[in-house]
Amino acid sequence: FNRIVLASRPTGPVTPDNFRLESVTAPDLADGQVLVRHHYLSLDPYMRGRMNDSRSYAQPQPLDETMIGGTVGEVVESRNSHFKAGDKVVGMGGWAEYAVVDASQRGVLQKVDTTHIPLSAYLGAVGMPGVTGWYGLTQICEPKAGETVVVSAASGAVGGAVGQLAKARGCRAVGIAGGPDKCRYVVEELGFDACIDYKTHSDGKALNKALKEAAPNGIDCYFENVGGWIMDTVLLRMNAFGRIAVCGMIAGYNGEPLPMANPALILVSRLKMQGFIVSEHMEKWPEALKELGTLVATGKLKYRETVSQGLASAPEAFMGLLKGANFGKQLVKLI
Ligand code: NDP
Repeated sequence: FNRIVLASRPTGPVTPDNFRLESVTAPDLADGQVLVRHHYLSLDPYMRGRMNDSRSYAQPQPLDETMIGGTVGEVVESRNSHFKAGDKVVGMGGWAEYAVVDASQRGVLQKVDTTHIPLSAYLGAVGMPGVTGWYGLTQICEPKAGETVVVSAASGAVGGAVGQLAKARGCRAVGIAGGPDKCRYVVEELGFDACIDYKTHSDGKALNKALKEAAPNGIDCYFENVGGWIMDTVLLRMNAFGRIAVCGMIAGYNGEPLPMANPALILVSRLKMQGFIVSEHMEKWPEALKELGTLVATGKLKYRETVSQGLASAPEAFMGLLKGANFGKQLVKLI
């Protein structure tokens, strides 16, 4: 089967020659192992960090090995009594058409129910991105009904969940996203109260003015996905005792500086600002997935997917994701 490995580490933006498509032979299964045929690969911004060989919260992606990543698919062969051929599963199979998984290790492969929830949603709204939105909002921002929640990268897999979960808790939800189409979708389909196009309001002054109009009572909670000047501007409008969940800083993932002009506001406005990594809070996943699964199955949590076709399309789609070419959850469809 085919797979994509990390061929070299990027210096700055990711390029196609950082990846290599190659063919490998699946080994015979040992006891406890299963062979999974992948239907979809998940492409996620965190993969950019893992391509660097620098100290971070996650181990670097090893060179010449399959790009690590979330996958959903179907068991096609099993030597594990907990899995049988035909089971739909979510795992970390990486950028490959198939994966041999040692399913005897707890948690590496989860069976999922596709009766009411499409398989691909387990990589998005009912998967890691959804739980990320849920965790940062409910455990760090802790919004109360009537408060105003702002989220950046609002049309994305994480941001879209954040605003809808905030609305379900009686909050005013304001998104920040790139371009009129994304902003329209955030308001009209996801049900946010407002969305600001940061490409039109492209400096601190314009964004500040737009935030003042969209959040007339100030901002109580900010869910940060982007960093840089957008975060700096939101700080200006935070209410006293506001909470900021620092989830991502995608504007700096290629090594761009993320200057901060207004840090004194953290003190002046007595803000709580906390970063988090969703995989360090596995104890909360069942609660989060229960809420997200129910909302998706009943059509109350909406999401959008951008699906590229075939394994070979993954590098291009990944480079696009880091520049905002995706609209909602970025997936690669293999079959
Ligand atoms: P998205 O689906 O939101 O895709 C990324 C989006 O980021 C793009 O579509 C683009 O949207 C926006 N973006 C890219 N570059 C910039 C830029 N320079 N300035 C402003 N916006 C930019 O991805 P996810 O929902 O998967 O992830 C969202 C964030 O959450 C990321 O920062 C990611 O790293 C983080 N994350 C953190 C986790 C954790 O445990 N802490 C776990 C999972 C995700 P637009 O067109 O609107 O600019």
